[in-house]
Amino acid sequence: RAKSAGGNRFELADPEADARAITRHGLTTALPAALDRGEFFIEYQPLVHLGDGSVRGAEALVRWLHPQHGVLGPDRFIPLAEHTGLIVPLGRWVLEQSVRQAREWQERHAAAGPLRINVNLSPCQLTHPGLVQDTVDILEREGLDADALCLEVTESALIGADDDLLKPLRRLAEMGVDIALDDFGTGYSNLANLRRLPVSILKLDRSFTQGMQQFPADPVDLKIVEGIVSLAHSLDLAITVEGVETGAQAEQLRILGCDTAQGWYYARPGPPERLHELALVDATG
Ligand code: C2E
Ligand code: MG
Ligand code: MG
Ligand code: MG
Repeated sequence: RAKSAGGNRFELADPEADARAITRHGLTTALPAALDRGEFFIEYQPLVHLGDGSVRGAEALVRWLHPQHGVLGPDRFIPLAEHTGLIVPLGRWVLEQSVRQAREWQERHAAAGPLRINVNLSPCQLTHPGLVQDTVDILEREGLDADALCLEVTESALIGADDDLLKPLRRLAEMGVDIALDDFGTGYSNLANLRRLPVSILKLDRSFTQGMQQFPADPVDLKIVEGIVSLAHSLDLAITVEGVETGAQAEQLRILGCDTAQGWYYARPGPPERLHELALVDATG
C-alpha cells in the first residue's frame, strides 16, 4: 500500500485507491437522483427491554438499493451525503418515513404498548436551522407523540459542543423527544460534561458488548460497564446496549443493570413487517 507522505502522486499510482475514488465520486453524483427515484429504504432493528424481553421499539437504519451496486450500507454513503449536504433532505426523509412507520405500529399493536422509534441524526443536521421545525411538523403531520421519538446523536458530534449546537436539542428534549448519545464510550467525552447535555439515554458502543462474549466475561470489561451503568443511572440516564449477539451477553448486561438491548441475538435489521411479528408474539405470548 502506498505511503501518503508523497501526496496525490502516490495515490494516483495506486489502482485500488483510484478505483475507490472513482466509486466514491460516482456514488456522490448519483445521490440526489437516488433520493428522487426512491432508491433509499429503511430497515428497522428492534429495541428490547432486558428485564422482560419485550420489544419496546426499533432503530431506523437507512440503506440504498443502488441500481448497479446492490444494497449499500450507510457507512458507504452517509459520509458522502454529509459532504455534499444531501444529508439534510435525506435525513428529513428518513425521519418522516420512520415516524409514519412508528405511528402505524402503534395503531396495529396497541397491546404491545406505545412502540418507539429511534432515528440517527448526523452532525450536519444538528447545525441545520430547520431541524426543530421539521421535526415538529413531521410529528404533527403523522400524528405521533414526541415521547415516542428518540433522536440518536454520536458522542463525537457533541464533544466540545457549544450552546448554539445544544439549543435545538434542548428544545426537542423539552418537547418530550428523547436524545440518545450513540456509540457511547468511543469518544473522549469528559464524563462530567454529560450533565450539560440534554441527553436521556446512553447507547453503549458495541465494543463493550464484545467483551461480554465469553461467560464469565472479562473482569475488567465488567468493571467498566458496571461503572458506566452506575454513572448513567445516578444521572437519571437510561442505558441501551448495542451489538448483543449472544444470550450470555444479554444475561450479563441485564445483571449489570442495563435497560434496553439491540443486536443480532434478538433480530437483525429488517423490514417493518418483521417488527409487527416480533411485537405481536410478544404481546400475546
Ligand atoms: P449505529 O447508529 O451505531 O447503528 C448500529 C449499527 O450496528 C447498525 O449498522 C446495525 O446494523 C449494526 N448492528 C446491530 N446489531 C448488531 C450486532 O449484534 N452485531 C453487529 N456486529 N452489528 C450490529 P448499520 O445499519 O450499517 O449502520 C451504521 C451506522 O450508519 C449507524 O450506526 C449510524 O451511525 C449510521 N446510520 C444509519 N442510518 C442512518 C440515518 O438514517 N442517518 C444517519 N445520519 N446515520 C445513519
Ligand atoms: Mg444509532
Ligand atoms: Mg450506535
Ligand atoms: Mg455503533
